[in-house]
Amino acid sequence: MSRVVIVGSGPAGATYARLLADVAEVIVVEAGPVLTDPPGMNVKNLADPAAQAAARDASQGPAGASGISGIPGHAVAEGTVTARHGTHLIGRSADMPAAAVATCVGGQGAHWTCATPRPTGSERIDFLDDFDADLDAAEALLHTTTAALSLIHMLGDARVTLRARTLCTRLLRDGNRVTGVVLRDLATGAEEELRADAVVVAADALRTPQLLWASGIRPAALGRRLTEHPLLFGFIAVRAGVLPLPEGGPRDPITAAVNLGFADGEHPFHAQLMFSPVCPVPLPADHPLAGNAHGYIGMGWGVRKWPRPEDRVTFDDDAPDENGLPGIRIAYRVTDREQAELDRAREFQARAAALFGEFLPGMPAVLPAGSSLHYMGTVRMGATDDGTSVCDPESRVWGVDGLVLAGNGLIPTANACNPTLTSVALAIRGARALTGRLRTGRIGYPEVSADLQN
Ligand SMILES: Cc1cc2nc3c(=O)[nH]c(=O)nc-3n(C[C@H](O)[C@H](O)[C@H](O)COP(=O)(O)OP(=O)(O)OC[C@H]3O[C@@H](n4cnc5c(N)ncnc54)[C@H](O)[C@@H]3O)c2cc1C
Repeated sequence: MSRVVIVGSGPAGATYARLLADVAEVIVVEAGPVLTDPPGMNVKNLADPAAQAAARDASQGPAGASGISGIPGHAVAEGTVTARHGTHLIGRSADMPAAAVATCVGGQGAHWTCATPRPTGSERIDFLDDFDADLDAAEALLHTTTAALSLIHMLGDARVTLRARTLCTRLLRDGNRVTGVVLRDLATGAEEELRADAVVVAADALRTPQLLWASGIRPAALGRRLTEHPLLFGFIAVRAGVLPLPEGGPRDPITAAVNLGFADGEHPFHAQLMFSPVCPVPLPADHPLAGNAHGYIGMGWGVRKWPRPEDRVTFDDDAPDENGLPGIRIAYRVTDREQAELDRAREFQARAAALFGEFLPGMPAVLPAGSSLHYMGTVRMGATDDGTSVCDPESRVWGVDGLVLAGNGLIPTANACNPTLTSVALAIRGARALTGRLRTGRIGYPEVSADLQN
């Protein structure tokens, strides 16, 4: 039987694990710890609030690390920016001070809100045939429902070997063929080489290109065209009488989330409205909007970012991170083009806010770059190997045998929608293609041409 190693256990890696288990021995390696039983569940499923908090703490990278990426989530970095509980800052770059990741079994998928809007119009990847069928399959796998938000776990498959607290430090290569991985047991520090017929790297949009760079796989597009969603966000205090709440009101904010979708021209944004029964930010007790009996709504308008080669993640071999991998740096700028869309988003948001109530003081505001947690484009997919993409439409790195990538980094478009559904759909497509190659034993790339050291 063939062996496939998957690096990273978030939704993208878990999709490959689930779909390849029939045709290959599947080993998932994950730098972070197991949080739940079964592994990979969304921690929102944990009934005990203390257990939820402990699981989020455990996802925040090496405890107390003072390295480049291991800044604990509660700590203040660069004066003001903190990571969302369950995530930790990465890169420490002034251009994207809020860049953050989760390091745990399930990845960010152990913490996500589970909003799975479909890409529409110009958000869609136009060179993929039949992508709707993949999106349908992704919705089924994620249990997407319009009645409630789905909470998933996809790693509880007995046929899949999960190795938590195991860091992949390098991909093994024989020329242009990837032949396995170098793994470090983070409990003991012991390193080993593991051979594989194919390796899937699903280590998020910042650490996937880091691992390729560390392995000497450096195509010209690697790390470039980084996008995220500039986010205009604010909380409003709800006016009496506009939101009929069930008796006692919803206790869990995610039971009351609404998405307003993207429409080219008219509304080129994704908006997410989430109810909170309690005031989500500290206000003086005597403030007129403190303790509002009708609750609060968080209103986020996510704007698209057009890909530009100069928005990029780079890797500093001379300043490694706490794991000894090349240090992550980010160069990124919101241009006048996105600024104009933020101005338009502000108008829509103000109209919506006026229907429901009144903004809390100082809101809304454009959040620091990186706050969306939706990083895309760094290992983008392309129709042809023209130097502007890293992967082909089957998620293989152009010209490299045995190496498949997964996750939001593959998304090439200026999309505004939450990216996970698209990434899972791309993973389904990639897993289907890889299954075919494993079955026929023809893992090799048809034309091996790329200069890996561009
Ligand atoms: C609070 C929160 C809310 C969110 N809400 C939404 C939402 O509503 N809708 C939406 O679409 N998205 C949402 N997201 C984003 C969503 O969770 C991500 O899009 C998704 O998890 C990405 O999946 P992934 O598998 O590509 O990467 P990840 O889930 O980030 O997983 C990558 C994994 O790789 C591991 N890894 C990295 N490097 C290595 C290495 N060298 N060796 C071993 N392991 C490694 C990491 O530890 C990590 O666990 C949210 C995220 C958060 C934190």
